[in-house]
Amino acid sequence: ARIPLVAGNWKMNFDHLEATYFVQRLAWTLRDARFDFRRCEVALMPAFTALRSVQVLVEADDLRIRYGAQSVSVTSQGAFTGDVSADMLSKLGCRYVIVGHSERRKYHPEDDANIVDQVRAVLAAGMQPILCVGESFEERRQGIELEFAVGQVHDVTRDLSDEDVARLIVAYEPVWAIGTGMVATPDSAQQAARAIREAVHAQFGPRMAGAMRILYGGSVNSRNAQQLLRGADVDGFLVGGASLDVDEFAKICRLA
Ligand code: 13P
Repeated sequence: ARIPLVAGNWKMNFDHLEATYFVQRLAWTLRDARFDFRRCEVALMPAFTALRSVQVLVEADDLRIRYGAQSVSVTSQGAFTGDVSADMLSKLGCRYVIVGHSERRKYHPEDDANIVDQVRAVLAAGMQPILCVGESFEERRQGIELEFAVGQVHDVTRDLSDEDVARLIVAYEPVWAIGTGMVATPDSAQQAARAIREAVHAQFGPRMAGAMRILYGGSVNSRNAQQLLRGADVDGFLVGGASLDVDEFAKICRLA
């Protein structure tokens, strides 16, 4: 069985002091609730500047909370001002890196080729990519949302080995649902997750498809999380806004 993953994408929020405070309070809140980390994995994606502080805290207090980054350079080192390499992130104890988030695709020149290279860089450094896919309102209006999301996954997986795909996590995040309060219906989240899993099945077989975690993202909160998780193929969430509130985020973790 797939262990659910609830990952908080903090985006460009929280400096390292705020991040430290948040992680401490989240750890206490989950401890008080006797949260079982074997049944649900919890991860946070802080800004680069907070990763070292989160690492120190997680290691010092032996916390079960995992963490990762929101993006990564496709190159391993050298004259790339402003970039951060996958090895730098893995040395900070990152387990995950979000790749291809729609905000990165929009505000930075991250095209499909770049996203494939990021996925490769993350895998080569021993971490797990969380690949974000999902249609905009326009594709949904045309009724091609499933083909679109499946196509985005396929663009990345077509050149990957079985071993690589075994470590890939996909987050279905319809662009129109991100930060809008317009959450996908549980049926439509399930349909997209199902379609992605079927495509992985066709390419890599039942074992890979059965093991891959597929998350939903886009206006998830503690009031809609339970319904969304009823989808048999929805294995957790990538949470934006609601991951900035400790109690709200802890509630979502407890529902998963
Ligand atoms: P919101 O939860 O704020 O809609 O953001 C979703 C998201 O982009 C997570 O990566």
